[in-house]
Amino acid sequence: MQIKSLAEYEETYKFSVEQPEEFWAGIAEKFQWKKKWDKVLSWNFTDPQIKWFEGAKLNITENCLDRHLEKNGDKPAIIWESNDPEKPSVTLTYKILHEQVCRFANVLKKNGVKKGDRICIYMPMVPELAIAVLACARIGAVHSVIFGGFSAKSIADRINDSACKLVITADGSFRGNKQIQLKEVIDDALIGCPTVEKVIVLTHTRTPVSMLKGRDLWYEDEIKLVDTICPAEEMDAEDMLFILYTSGSTGKPKGVVHTVGGYMVYAGYTFANAFNYQPDEVFFCTADIGWITGHSYIVYGPLSQGATTLIFEGIPTYPTPSRLWEIVEKHKVNILYTAPTAIRSLMSYGKEPLKGIDMSSLRVLGSVGEPINEEAWHWFDEEVGHKNCPIVDTWWQTETGGLMISPIAFVTPLKPACATLPLPGIQPVLVDENGKEIEGNGVNGNLCIKFPWPGILRTTYGDHERCKQTYFSTYPNLYFTGDGCMRDEDGYYKITGRVDDVINVSGHRIGTAEVENAINMHAGVVESAVVGYPHEVKGQGIYAFVIYPKMHDEPELTKKDILQTVTRVIGAIAKPDKILFVSGLPKTRSGKIMRRILRKIAEGETSNLGDTSTLLDPGVVEEIIGSAQKL
Ligand code: ATP
Ligand code: MG
Repeated sequence: MQIKSLAEYEETYKFSVEQPEEFWAGIAEKFQWKKKWDKVLSWNFTDPQIKWFEGAKLNITENCLDRHLEKNGDKPAIIWESNDPEKPSVTLTYKILHEQVCRFANVLKKNGVKKGDRICIYMPMVPELAIAVLACARIGAVHSVIFGGFSAKSIADRINDSACKLVITADGSFRGNKQIQLKEVIDDALIGCPTVEKVIVLTHTRTPVSMLKGRDLWYEDEIKLVDTICPAEEMDAEDMLFILYTSGSTGKPKGVVHTVGGYMVYAGYTFANAFNYQPDEVFFCTADIGWITGHSYIVYGPLSQGATTLIFEGIPTYPTPSRLWEIVEKHKVNILYTAPTAIRSLMSYGKEPLKGIDMSSLRVLGSVGEPINEEAWHWFDEEVGHKNCPIVDTWWQTETGGLMISPIAFVTPLKPACATLPLPGIQPVLVDENGKEIEGNGVNGNLCIKFPWPGILRTTYGDHERCKQTYFSTYPNLYFTGDGCMRDEDGYYKITGRVDDVINVSGHRIGTAEVENAINMHAGVVESAVVGYPHEVKGQGIYAFVIYPKMHDEPELTKKDILQTVTRVIGAIAKPDKILFVSGLPKTRSGKIMRRILRKIAEGETSNLGDTSTLLDPGVVEEIIGSAQKL
């Protein structure tokens, strides 16, 4: 499956565009199917309706586990590194992982879980998280992993949206010198979740937790009651594999749905190619399994290719900013896949933390999540890769299932801070505001994709209309990514940022509407508007303009109360960095907030506000500018 030269890439790409069905069928042949497909692809982007490998039967865990047992049963599948560097790391071979997945799958069955049931997973970054994910897939249950930083309210919304039947969690998690009481958060969430029948609790931090009779069960007790044989459920290629909620720019969680067959082929193919994974190498992706990057490049992509994947529980700066580099040295990591926000944060400590650490095992570096700035790119290249490791700057989305525009390591000639070229099978187009395709090179536009690939989302859970509206209605017959993009003189793609209203805070996607909803829940707040502004470490910071007329208390205390509300409703990751009290917001005549004006104010760029002709009351803007200067 691996492409070895630029000429081969060009040839493969051409074939993949001219004969997409033949191309993807050829890739799919490299996976294990219980029954092959009757039809490779049927699709339209109007409904939308997309089906890959129709009629095929498979189980993704047979591809990720069983098929490696004979040759690679004793090869490490997962290496786990604890938050605490003193704690021994854990290695699970393919044989052991297979056993544990089957065992836990039997626990789920014993507790009444059936094919198609939705399961919420809210866990620390421990091997049992990957085991829980795979155990769901083993029996055809649909997993919905929620990042361990979300609040009870956010969890409840997500659980209710997909009517989850069971929750898998832990007593708590460690992140740096902090402990998060996961079970307590789940207990709060479940007050409002009538569909949840059982909660399975892993012991990890050993903090006291309440265990409700008839509902809550210990992981450790349950696995003793079952055996390790669990046949893999036969799934249709188009059966649901998982739901993953994205930040959601309209405030309501948006459950992106991926299906078994296409997702597997796409995650596996992109993993093998972009990173040039070689047998016996150690692959380290620093994302959390709660995000799509963790789903595709900690769990499914690497395991489907028989790779060794490293799971790290902690954060790059604990106990010292050398931690990530020490892990690379300790486990002889060959491929390191991380995010610009992590690179920028480590960069701020200078070169000292890298001194004396042997990172010669590194062969390939990767970046994901937001546009990487050139300074960070060069630092990564020079200080981490010693100018010896290609950097794959991978552009993709929760909705795309896997990498879309990305260099292929050792194949694609690189340009700093550039996602370069589309992977085989991906047909990007740039369009102007009216949806007209912009041809040629040296141009800017809205990035769309004009032909389906196996990893494309199939729907948003329980609300197909929303999927259509969000991705397929902006421009007819195109998948709209929401990102702006430049195609340079050489035909290389460089993502310029989002054209929608999402803020990227330290690699976490936060919808402006979601934060506004949270702020508006605070008693006394009349209305608010939230925008992002450039932040040296976080990438983007959150700037909130808040209308709060009845100021009884000190404004500073009120600000703290608002921060507390946001923490309760969404989580600490969504706390505004700046709050400005205002008496009104700039609105259009049709009542829409003009965010681009607020963005300029937040950036301190008030000399040219652009076209303000649709503004209802220009006086409001003057007032906001005045008080912003005093903040
Ligand atoms: P929501 O869809 O709810 O708004 P989100 O888009 O923030 O959430 P993700 O799917 O995790 O959630 O993020 C995908 C987005 O991240 C892309 O659309 C793009 O804006 C950005 N992104 C990811 N990788 C890169 C990259 N290599 N270069 C530039 N931007 C990137
Ligand atoms: Mg998005």
